[in-house]
Amino acid sequence: MAYRSIFDASVVQKEFEINGINSQFIPLIWKYVLQNPNCKWDEIPSLPAAAYSLLNSKFLPITSTLHSVSHSTDDVTSKLLIKLQSGAFVEAVIMRYDTRLGKYAGKQRPGGPRATLCVSSQVGCKMGCKFCATGSMGFKSNLSTGEIVEQLVHAFHISNIRNIVFMGMGEPLNNYSALVEAVRIMTKSPFQLSPKRITISTVGIVHAINKLQHDLPQLNLAVSLHAPVQDIRCQIMPAARAFPLNKLMDALHLYQKNSLQKIFIEYIMLDGVNDEELQAHQLGKLLETLEVVVNLIPFNPVGNTSQFRTSSEEKVKNFQRILREKYNIRTTVRKEMGQDINGACGQLVVSEQQKKMLASSSGLVTDIEDLHL
Ligand code: SF4
Repeated sequence: MAYRSIFDASVVQKEFEINGINSQFIPLIWKYVLQNPNCKWDEIPSLPAAAYSLLNSKFLPITSTLHSVSHSTDDVTSKLLIKLQSGAFVEAVIMRYDTRLGKYAGKQRPGGPRATLCVSSQVGCKMGCKFCATGSMGFKSNLSTGEIVEQLVHAFHISNIRNIVFMGMGEPLNNYSALVEAVRIMTKSPFQLSPKRITISTVGIVHAINKLQHDLPQLNLAVSLHAPVQDIRCQIMPAARAFPLNKLMDALHLYQKNSLQKIFIEYIMLDGVNDEELQAHQLGKLLETLEVVVNLIPFNPVGNTSQFRTSSEEKVKNFQRILREKYNIRTTVRKEMGQDINGACGQLVVSEQQKKMLASSSGLVTDIEDLHL
């Protein structure tokens, strides 16, 4: 029998209720496990006797194992290869940076050292974006709530994580209930992350965006738009056929009306596909009535995505200039990144070849948080 993760909150809650155990013990158990992920249940002090026998029979402190960690040469990124109980692998990536580096609006940026964890929500992904290595893997399985939270437990032992971005493997809104439950755990004791420091990146699953604003109201939403018109979107993101651009834009307007929050727009720059001046103007017009920050992402070929080329630096700059100057849209360009995390919502793929590549990759990232300034 496969044991459940202690971070599978609803299962744990239900079992505690069935066995007449006070659920107030759950956060205490989580706290102990966070500090001692390899503990035995009997080591946790002061639990009721029924709790020990339940935990021993049905739950593990941690169901996944940290298979390997590779650090970039500049120590900016660390890639965690995590083996699930099923034998499948997922990746999580820690990105470190200092918000005080550089200036914004002529002033020293506030803040200090930060660590952000990029979390996976699925093994593989069914959305099949053509420029994405994870998409080329196909869909294997959803992660459970516990498997999502365990990525944070592993990462906490490497860095002091302040921010979470759901931009690892998978489309988070396709694993909706596990995602919502995992975020709720991350914002409670013992993790206590601010919801304002958690970002969910989606290709634009319209019905789930409409639900998200009620279920997790304070979160940041990032949308992988990647094209300003429906036909280019469909060409590079097959899932866009099911979620037409006009419906997605309606959902974003509604989301912003209710949440009063900026929306982050991610736009991967593909040479000759979506990076022309015409498309910059189309994007500007599409977004000018929303409060957005556009993040232009230079394409970084990974896995089976070689049909695309990276836009020249000049084209990226020109695209940025048009959005800023003609449409007054805050537009940033994502810095050069490691070979493994080059996309809006993931682009991680775990294969033997990729594992080798991970071991040798390095790079710089800009955290989503510095878009919040
Ligand atoms: S870009 Fe995101 S949604 Fe698209 S295939 Fe990759 S992981 Fe899935």
